[in-house]
Amino acid sequence: MQGEELKVFISSRESSCDECGEKLGSKAWITLAGDKGALCLSCADLDHLLFLPSGNVALTRRARKHSTLSAVVLKWSRARKRYERQGLLVEVQALEKAEEECLADEAIRERRREREATRREVLGRRYVDQFAVRVRELFPGCPAGREREIAEHACLKYSGRVGRSASAKELDEKAIRLAVVAHLRHRETKYDELLAKGHDRREARTAVEKTVRQVLRKWET
Ligand SMILES: [Zn+2]
Repeated sequence: MQGEELKVFISSRESSCDECGEKLGSKAWITLAGDKGALCLSCADLDHLLFLPSGNVALTRRARKHSTLSAVVLKWSRARKRYERQGLLVEVQALEKAEEECLADEAIRERRREREATRREVLGRRYVDQFAVRVRELFPGCPAGREREIAEHACLKYSGRVGRSASAKELDEKAIRLAVVAHLRHRETKYDELLAKGHDRREARTAVEKTVRQVLRKWET
């Protein structure tokens, strides 16, 4: 059964992440993790999800249906004194599938073009290629094409962060490894399913630890 919906809040004041310490500014997207306070989407492991603004009911419904993990995005309205729904964070594949189903709609095609243009712009950098090459070097057993997926995600993630210039020499083994582990959790384990069911991140990580280690070992050789 679906647990309670995951919620992401667009903060209305200056905030920082209680886990990584990153200053997030005044309109940050955060999750609230009980007594642990506010977490950035990276630390909450939701940063692989895409934002789908409210407005298209059919698209939203389909995207949610196809997405193992999704989160509703809320913002406080001063005028109405309540949180208002801004949209949904969903998996890329789920959104694409939903879009295919709704593709007759011109507005959807337009939005998709815009998203792809932004993505190409960010990913045009040499960083992605270098990152992918390093993934392949360290994890020769990684299935074909996955090094690119891992590199693109890492690149999109870092590009959103102020002052993080990504040069090849920063691509140390630890950074690569972290990116690979994050990818593995989402793609090779039940991690997202557990989060969607309302499990705590730490619990969920522990539950998939063994699988992650097994796959890592396979990819390393
Ligand atoms: Zn953080």
